[in-house]
Amino acid sequence: MKTALVTGAAGFMGSHLTDRLVAEGWQVWAVDNLATGSWDNLDPAYRERGVVTALEWDVTRDLSPEALRAAGLEHLDLVVHLASAASPVHYRRLALETLWVNSKGTGNALEVARAYGARFLLGSTSEAYGDPEVSPQPETYWGHVNPVGPRACYDESKRFGEALTMEYVRQYGLDARILRFFNCYGPRMQVGDGRVVPNFVSQALQGEPLTVYGDGSQTRSFCYVSDEVEAIWRIANAPGLAGEIFNVGNPEERTILDFARAVAAVAGVELKVTYRPLPPDDPTNRCPDISKARRLLGWEPVVSLEEGLAATFAYFRALPAVGGRQG
Ligand code: UDP
Repeated sequence: MKTALVTGAAGFMGSHLTDRLVAEGWQVWAVDNLATGSWDNLDPAYRERGVVTALEWDVTRDLSPEALRAAGLEHLDLVVHLASAASPVHYRRLALETLWVNSKGTGNALEVARAYGARFLLGSTSEAYGDPEVSPQPETYWGHVNPVGPRACYDESKRFGEALTMEYVRQYGLDARILRFFNCYGPRMQVGDGRVVPNFVSQALQGEPLTVYGDGSQTRSFCYVSDEVEAIWRIANAPGLAGEIFNVGNPEERTILDFARAVAAVAGVELKVTYRPLPPDDPTNRCPDISKARRLLGWEPVVSLEEGLAATFAYFRALPAVGGRQG
């Protein structure tokens, strides 16, 4: 049976990826320190069936080939390193933890892949491009990043993780691939996570105005989580991609104000907005060039914003803290 180790498996993206791996017949070793994730995101039946082994470990401190061998892991085909706070609110709160998980934690995850002879996927980010001066951003763009600003704990540690990963490819011949995720959304995002999608969706459900930061003219490109998981799956399974970097995101770019309109329309409510100050170093634009993924993987997003938001609303509506307060 194929076996994967997923760091951050109790988080938003990690839990969706675990669902996919289990559905494809894989065994999953799920590592998470629950800093921002929850085991509730994983179906309890997985552990009962013995297809998921959940380890409450801190990737920065606890993850090593020796610890995994002691826990009974004999064979590993794939390591997917997703552990990190990803919301600007969380990574500011956990700034040092974020720096360490994306640097030392990435080193630990790489060592596991090397020791077991496994393929390695690094979950990186469009934040590696900073506030881009090129649009859309191709993988070859080096970025425009403030190395000492409030977002640097995330941007710069992800960039370090990319550099480290590439040295494992060059020096050890590790079969590692890098994925730069653009804004992703869907069920299992947390209500208080601070990102624009959970904020707008829970505000719309509670009849509150949507909090637009700045004048709302900054752009983002929103990709539904099942599309991102499909990209991860293809990048994990295609041969001959060692050292390759892929943008994973939806190339449909829109302003935050336009996104607020779309959220209100899907919620069936009149758009009400309150403006709040723009956080420092908030990127003015972000849009992936996905021609490489189209060409090499035959991948592109297929879920429309309306469909994706409808599924996200359904999830949030069912949460007692959000939907339960309605009506
Ligand atoms: N944003 C907003 N209102 C919110 C939360 C975020 O207008 O309640 C803006 C934020 O300033 C940024 C964009 O939405 O321009 C996306 O923010 P998010 O925190 O989701 O992720 P980012 O792309 O900045 O990492």
